This record gives sequence, structure tokens and C-alpha cells, in this order.
Amino acid sequence: MSSICAHPHERRGLKGRMLTAELKAAEDRCAEAEQKLTPPRRRVLELLLQAGQPVKAYDLIAAFSPGGAPAKPPTVYRALDFLEKQGFAHRIESLNAYMACRQGPEAHAAAFLICDCCGVAAEVEPVGAEPLRALADHAGFTLSVVTVEAHGLCAACAA
Ligand SMILES: [Zn+2]
Ligand SMILES: [Zn+2]
Ligand SMILES: [Zn+2]
Repeated sequence: MSSICAHPHERRGLKGRMLTAELKAAEDRCAEAEQKLTPPRRRVLELLLQAGQPVKAYDLIAAFSPGGAPAKPPTVYRALDFLEKQGFAHRIESLNAYMACRQGPEAHAAAFLICDCCGVAAEVEPVGAEPLRALADHAGFTLSVVTVEAHGLCAACAA
């Protein structure tokens, strides 16, 4: 994804051996959960890991088959749905984008610090997720996803 600011930005995505290892680990994790990392699911995860920052669904659709026709949108959306449910990605509502998660298989509440200048996002532990869970329990409300999205400027862009 391109940034609107002129200063240089650190690339956060994975490539080469790191990327291959991460995809292999994802395959193993799926096998353990008796799920399948099908080629479209694997490809979407690869694109998210390569980006290392939030990617919009239409950018994933465009990048899906390099040099070929763009992917069919439902293929990409179904893959994203799988990756989200299996804990490989988070949806960032305010950007209508997705970001790879490398924290492991446990479902977790996530908070994102999103830079409005360069588009990077850092996943952090959300403050207050536990009290929120307790309040929901008390109300008899079953939580499925908790995502906090905070916007601002990253250290590089604020400097
Ligand atoms: Zn996460
Ligand atoms: Zn930034
Ligand atoms: Zn910037």
C-alpha cells in the first residue's frame, strides 16, 4: 500500500525464508486443528504477511494472481473469513482492511494503533478487555470479537 507522506518508511512485511517458515507454520497449525490451508487461503495469508500492515480487500483481490486476471472477490472474502476465524488475521473495520496476526491460535481481543499517514498498524494488547468481558458476562452477552482501533501517527511519521 502506498503512503501519502514523503519520508522513508520501514518495511515490516515478511519475505524469503521468514515468509516460507511462517506459511509452513500456518499449514501445520491448520492440520492440527483439522482445517485445511487451501491454495486461496494460503495465498491471501501470504499477501497479508508480505504486507505486514493492513491491506484492503480490493488490493488483495488485485494482487491475488500476479500477471493474471484478478481473483474472484468471493474467493478472497471466503479466504479472509477462514483466516479470521482461525486466528491468522484481524479485520480492521475503520480501514475496511485486514492484517495478519502472528500471535497464535487462541482467539484474543486486539487493539490496533493505526497510522493515518503511512498506513502501518501495530497490534497491541487492548486495555480493559477483561473488564469488558466481565460486563458482557454479567449482561448475559456472548462476545465474539473485540477489536479496538486507535488512529494517529506512528513514531516515524510524528517525528
Ligand atoms: Zn491478533
Ligand atoms: Zn506512519
Ligand atoms: Zn508518514
